[in-house]
Amino acid sequence: MTDVVKKGFRSRALGAGLKALGASGLPRLAQPFTQGRGAILMFHHIRPWAGGVFTPNRGLEITPEFLDETIAALHGRGFDIVPLGEIPARLRQPNEKPFAALTFDDGYRDNLVHAIPVLEKYGAPFTIYIATGFADGTARLWWVELENAIRALDSVPFAGQTLPASAADEKMAAFLAIYWNLRAGSEARLLDEIARIAALARIDGAALTRGLCMNWEEIAKLATHPLCTIGAHTVTHPRLAKLGDAPARQEMAASRDAIEARLGQPVRHFAFPVGDPTSASPREFAVAAELGFDTAVTTRKGMIFDAHAGRLTALPRLSVNGDYQERAYLELLLTGAPFWLWNRGRRIAA
Ligand SMILES: [Zn+2]
Repeated sequence: MTDVVKKGFRSRALGAGLKALGASGLPRLAQPFTQGRGAILMFHHIRPWAGGVFTPNRGLEITPEFLDETIAALHGRGFDIVPLGEIPARLRQPNEKPFAALTFDDGYRDNLVHAIPVLEKYGAPFTIYIATGFADGTARLWWVELENAIRALDSVPFAGQTLPASAADEKMAAFLAIYWNLRAGSEARLLDEIARIAALARIDGAALTRGLCMNWEEIAKLATHPLCTIGAHTVTHPRLAKLGDAPARQEMAASRDAIEARLGQPVRHFAFPVGDPTSASPREFAVAAELGFDTAVTTRKGMIFDAHAGRLTALPRLSVNGDYQERAYLELLLTGAPFWLWNRGRRIAA
């Protein structure tokens, strides 16, 4: 889960800006400076587009066809697609070719059905980050609960007001208002408020998790796939920076321990849930290093530079966002130029 909602809201303006930048020819000239050593690509759902007019989480899904096009674009631009575990060594040695690592967050069943055939077609290594509470069927996909509840309701009581939610634009406005209000507060308030709203629409959060996420049997089978690396993504998928020291550390360590116990293989990589600066902070980057993870990834935007060799538990990613399923956008992102602008010229922006 990322800040895709906000991005989706701004996608038209941003899309026009990206198009203008792409047409300028500047990104190609700047590429030697902005592309760095490569990128860690971030994906969530891979599934055929089901359509709909109220789809606030659309940024979190791309079609199998666009996954295919993404890998084709990487090949076309000369990227080596490498297992995540090779990145530390790759950063220690010069290499003329840029690298790309493919990462999938949360452990969705559609990855198994729709992503694996594409990844196999290209022989592309990939990493899937498992939140163990999703695999257990107990942790909550609260952003999907909120979407489904608002889709079903005509109005939403929230913070002493009644938000209209009959037309699609009203539903989007209600979703954004509630989402960003709750994102600013504690994890407990976010979960309680969305549980209350979901109950009004008779949404069964546990059934939603079990329907969308792989169970342990499926994960165990996936873990034996020669192209697959399994990473950890906490137990309950909280915004770790909102938790106290001990609970945050416990979420990180317990998810790794549970996966290792279930799969009988070491877990060397971690992804911070939500992953923006309000959800993953320098405290958690340090804990990830203390716990011995080889790498940990955020949802900060950026390419990977040599200097990231010293910050392997605070790595940025390149989000392959459902709001931008166009080859031209992807090609532009792979030059690194948009990140250079977003990060105001800083290569390390964590
Ligand atoms: Zn996640």
